[in-house]
Amino acid sequence: MKKIIALLAATLTLHLSGCATTTNSSASGVTRSQFLLMPASQVDQMSAQAYSETLQKAKQKSTLNVNKAMYNRVNRISQRLIAQVGVFREDAKKWNWEVNVEKNDQLNAYCMPGGKIMVYSGLVEKIKATDDELAAVIGHEIAHALREHGRERMSQAYVQQFGLQALAAFVGKGAGAAMTMKGASLGSQLFFALPNGREQERESDRIGLELAARAGYNPDAAVTLWQKMSAGSKGAPPEFLSTHPASANRIADLKALAPQVRPLYEKAKRK
Ligand SMILES: [Zn+2]
Repeated sequence: MKKIIALLAATLTLHLSGCATTTNSSASGVTRSQFLLMPASQVDQMSAQAYSETLQKAKQKSTLNVNKAMYNRVNRISQRLIAQVGVFREDAKKWNWEVNVEKNDQLNAYCMPGGKIMVYSGLVEKIKATDDELAAVIGHEIAHALREHGRERMSQAYVQQFGLQALAAFVGKGAGAAMTMKGASLGSQLFFALPNGREQERESDRIGLELAARAGYNPDAAVTLWQKMSAGSKGAPPEFLSTHPASANRIADLKALAPQVRPLYEKAKRK
């Protein structure tokens, strides 16, 4: 028993110390230490599988990238943002990034762990988003992936649900061998079922704003985006806003941060 506990402690220490924080400190000022027990390789594998299942379903329903002009626009903006991710973490430049647009009336977008971006057509059409506003929302979603918030949520949920011992067993099997179908669907369930916490949202707002500014998108658009989102959600509350409340606080924070990243935006525009 003592041996098991020692092994468990060693495993946890290894993973805790190996992943204190996922991103470089930058103008965004995000430096929080994170709880990341699940191996990134497993989380990315789960995410890639869940994403490809989503694409397959969308293809079957003929809702995947049906509007070519919209897809090209979303992809162009996303690629400009992705070109800047190295500022926050070098390894993200080599991620297997994917960008897709699904025909869906909801105001929604997400970026799964490892860089799997999905934008719903409703988000583009309903609020008549400008390029700067789309960059603000996609930048925010990319920031969740860069900060590995999904992995953080999965680590927390796994520990709460199954205890540390089960997690250690899961981790101990190593990436690949432990990847069962059950694991994959559990991962995607955890990703979609667990909302980001307030602090995670704040981090993504800050990093997303800086990412967009560095890509040459006007940081003021983050404010108009959230204003349009909350106005556009009157009546039927869309999924995105239930996890991303466009509170007065959030808008005030973005307004306060915009001048700090404005020089990055001006510099990017001059290039
Ligand atoms: Zn968010």
